Amino acid sequence: MQLELELLSPSNAEAPRVVASAVLRKHRLRNDVLRRVDYVRRFFPELDGETITVGLTRAASGMAVPGGSRIWLNPSRLSHHTIAHELIHLLQLRNLGIPSGERACDVFSMARHWTLNDDRPSYVRVPLSLLDGHGAVPESVARMLFEVSRDALARRQQGHRQYIAYFEQEVQRKSPARASRESRASMEVSSRLLT
Ligand SMILES: [Zn+2]
Repeated sequence: MQLELELLSPSNAEAPRVVASAVLRKHRLRNDVLRRVDYVRRFFPELDGETITVGLTRAASGMAVPGGSRIWLNPSRLSHHTIAHELIHLLQLRNLGIPSGERACDVFSMARHWTLNDDRPSYVRVPLSLLDGHGAVPESVARMLFEVSRDALARRQQGHRQYIAYFEQEVQRKSPARASRESRASMEVSSRLLT
């Protein structure tokens, strides 16, 4: 009886927004992962009406098939930024004006909402000196990354092709002075793989 009532309720008539793959369903952190994806997804109205399937990966922080509806996440190093980056991949190749490429994906993902900027991007240069003593992104920095990425995308809209370089220069300009050498070093040793 319970089941029948649930099937008849209007909310069940809609497609689920986020579902776990068979592998993620067995993971102890599945609810945490799905809750986070659901939060990030609020800022992706382009995906309304679609079901996103979330799987697991241990080889990278995250993966996605550009233009698809499936992402893979690593629960042990999950951030809102990683989820946003992967969801942007899903919007690529859909004629939505979002170019392909990892660096573009980073800039577009940071321009969605400041609360999603909780980790350094993997492909565009953001100095380590912007992080706090615990390696976290302070709220002021998350807001700054949001503003600068919005500006960069507005410039792209106006026809500027160097919008990613603009983003990196502006972030560098707003960073503490010892930034440049550290960020270059971190780029070289970075083992964080995102696709
Ligand atoms: Zn990627």
